[in-house]
Amino acid sequence: MVVLGREGLDRLVEVLMERGYRVIGPTVRDEAIVLDELTSASQLPFGWGVEVGPGQYRLWRRADGAAFKNSAGPQSWKQFLHPAREKLWSADRDGSGFTVTATDSEPPRYAFLGVRGCDLAAIRVLDRVLDRGEHPDSRYHRRREGIFIVGVNCTDPGETCFCVSMGTGPAVSPQPPPPCGGQGVGPTPHQPGYDLVLTESVDQRGHHFLTEAGSERGAEVLAELPTRPAGPGEVEAAETAVARAATAMGRRMPAADLPAVLAATRESERWSEIASRCLTCANCTMVCPTCFCTTTEDVTDLTGDHAERWQHWASCFELDYSYIHGGEVRTSGASRYRQWLTHKLGTWHDQFGGSGCVGCGRCIAWCPVGIDLTAEVDALVTEAGEEPR
Ligand code: SF4
Ligand code: SF4
Repeated sequence: MVVLGREGLDRLVEVLMERGYRVIGPTVRDEAIVLDELTSASQLPFGWGVEVGPGQYRLWRRADGAAFKNSAGPQSWKQFLHPAREKLWSADRDGSGFTVTATDSEPPRYAFLGVRGCDLAAIRVLDRVLDRGEHPDSRYHRRREGIFIVGVNCTDPGETCFCVSMGTGPAVSPQPPPPCGGQGVGPTPHQPGYDLVLTESVDQRGHHFLTEAGSERGAEVLAELPTRPAGPGEVEAAETAVARAATAMGRRMPAADLPAVLAATRESERWSEIASRCLTCANCTMVCPTCFCTTTEDVTDLTGDHAERWQHWASCFELDYSYIHGGEVRTSGASRYRQWLTHKLGTWHDQFGGSGCVGCGRCIAWCPVGIDLTAEVDALVTEAGEEPR
């Protein structure tokens, strides 16, 4: 393991750009830490922390100048791998018929800088759903296959985080988390994990990043950076900081057989009680790094000579999401919330061999009325009389 100084981070961004990557990382915009293209490490959120809670998110100024000691913002890497809206094809009349043109442009080669353990697990969940099923999504595959990942071990979790209880953090795992943690999603054939992983420290030795390569190309990039060997106690200090983060999670998912709990509480009154608070706004599904549902819409221009098919994110909280030949199936908020939670934590296991939740806490922070899935599951576990595992 080697140590990268603050200037080494600048060089990391430069080297990735020189290698043709479009570098995406956290930056401050609109009073939040968002993910955007970076052309310099100086755009990282140095000196910003995040105060987060149910229905709350606020930036605060950190005295230590750290860049990665802040929990998940409203966005996730999903928006780059599985965009919120994209054109699939267009069609133009050409006299007797029409010509269809697929939107097949070469995707950018992304380098993701600052991927936490929970978010790497979320990418693995998307890999399983979109890239490793019977009908892989070729667009997702092409975006995903060239990606360079710089992971960051989390040392400062937020009040809404519960990655430990989902087996996905706070350390960035080179291996898939154990199935008992709710995941069980294996590495993709083209990307076993991360290329580099950083642990940020600000101490008497200054502001630095303990760095390790996780792949051959990660090692090649690391060889181009100004580093020094880790000094006495630096590796242990970083491990201690990550271990401390594991005990500082604001929440935990109950350790129970959640698929069984959700099946047993299908008719619970709790769903109506949640629905009395839920606005069915779909925020939780939009911010969730693993919610993958989409729908398509066709549009034509006013002449009728040109048509386009677009794909955009959809949500099981939308009324027409469950529309089938003549009507919606899930007309109540209670049935829609139940669908979301039951799929995420229950039937996702049957469908994809693991949980659909990685414990990032976004859905708690960005729910306008502060509905907390860990609290709702706690109540359902109690109602089901399930013994904690
Ligand atoms: S369900 Fe909530 S906590 Fe779980 S992965 Fe989605 S946004 Fe994160
Ligand atoms: S749980 Fe919260 S974020 Fe999700 S749909 Fe209901 S009100 Fe919106």
